[in-house]
Amino acid sequence: MPIYEFRCRSCNHKFEKLCQLGETGKNLSCPKCGTEKPNRIMSAFRADSADSLRGSRGDSCKSCTSPNCSACR
Ligand SMILES: [Zn+2]
Repeated sequence: MPIYEFRCRSCNHKFEKLCQLGETGKNLSCPKCGTEKPNRIMSAFRADSADSLRGSRGDSCKSCTSPNCSACR
């Protein structure tokens, strides 16, 4: 299971939690103040892979200027 990072919307406390894939934090609460639905922080790993995915798609397309290139695949 992946570890996600969450930040409390109320007290800004940051905490990590082992979650099922796709967990959004809806069912979680801050361990410090108990406020529900903390914001999930996107991990660096996921952000990097999304960026490289966009980059490779952009490089491979020569026929349009669309950033995601859904029209020419
Ligand atoms: Zn809190």
